[in-house]
Amino acid sequence: VGPSRSDTMNPSPVRPRMERPVDAEHMGDALERVLLTEEEILAGLDRMAREIAADYEGKDVLMVGVLKGAVMVVSDLMRAMPYSVPMDWMAISSYGSGTRSSGVVRILKDLDTDITDRHVLVVEDVIDSGLTLSWILENLELRGAASVEVATLLRKPEAQKVEIDAKYVGFDIPNDFVVGYGLDFDERFRNLRCVGTLAPHMYS
Ligand code: 5GP
Repeated sequence: VGPSRSDTMNPSPVRPRMERPVDAEHMGDALERVLLTEEEILAGLDRMAREIAADYEGKDVLMVGVLKGAVMVVSDLMRAMPYSVPMDWMAISSYGSGTRSSGVVRILKDLDTDITDRHVLVVEDVIDSGLTLSWILENLELRGAASVEVATLLRKPEAQKVEIDAKYVGFDIPNDFVVGYGLDFDERFRNLRCVGTLAPHMYS
């Protein structure tokens, strides 16, 4: 008797790793505080995947990741799903090398998929002001999607400037700039497995 479907398709949220070359203890004094460990992140994504899987069972859903920050979130969220879901990507410019949303949004890479009459699940790393995402949602709705919902690993309730009704939220976090698990500061720290805040000296 082989492994059951749930064993093979939906592994434990805390997956064994061989080595962890890039983790908080290897960051020297760059990190100020770890907000979420890898285990907490994966457990959160597993919970979200179960909710998403139940809601979209039998429906033709397309996961749309927003580059580049959501790369890790999409990868792990998708692997936590009990059935296959297609993915596509958008890249938009909203941040320069600073830490605040400019509000100016431009499509750098558009979807490859026609989303007319499709159920779209936009996957984000973090909702900060919500400005970028509200622009994306409006843009996708104008293309005639059957539905557009949002899954985000992180949300900063105190930072939100526009109301975003995210259906699937991993964690609410304080209004601090965070790095790790796909989130960068000047293209650094994306490979960190945890999410944390940077020490003040890293900004100077
Ligand atoms: P918003 O438009 O909601 O203010 O921010 C949108 C994008 O800004 C996010 O998808 C993310 O790429 C980036 N961003 C917002 N907050 C943070 C943060 O705390 N750290 C990092 N590294 N990026 C952030």
